[in-house]
Amino acid sequence: MAEHKAKGRKTRSAGRFGTRYGVKNRKLVADIEEKMHADYACGKCGAIKMKRIATGIWKCTKCEVSFTGGSYVPQTPAHLTVMRAVNVEKAATAKATESLASKV
Ligand SMILES: [Zn+2]
Repeated sequence: MAEHKAKGRKTRSAGRFGTRYGVKNRKLVADIEEKMHADYACGKCGAIKMKRIATGIWKCTKCEVSFTGGSYVPQTPAHLTVMRAVNVEKAATAKATESLASKV
């Protein structure tokens, strides 16, 4: 005899939709909601207290700072790519200013 799984186990948080919308869509929603409600560190104080207050708006419940980010995660892969480029540019600018200062 086949074992019965508990109700809502298959599609996790999307179990609230019952049998509606198709299993694939419910799984996608559950995946997104898991990422959305995961623990994230605050960019300012480092506390694991980030909370999504609206689409793309994140707030730290400890230091009360709010900032924009991804719709469902505070930092998207595109954000990391951009920040890498910004840091390279910052390092180059700092080096250029340093060499100018040593000439004067
Ligand atoms: Zn904080």
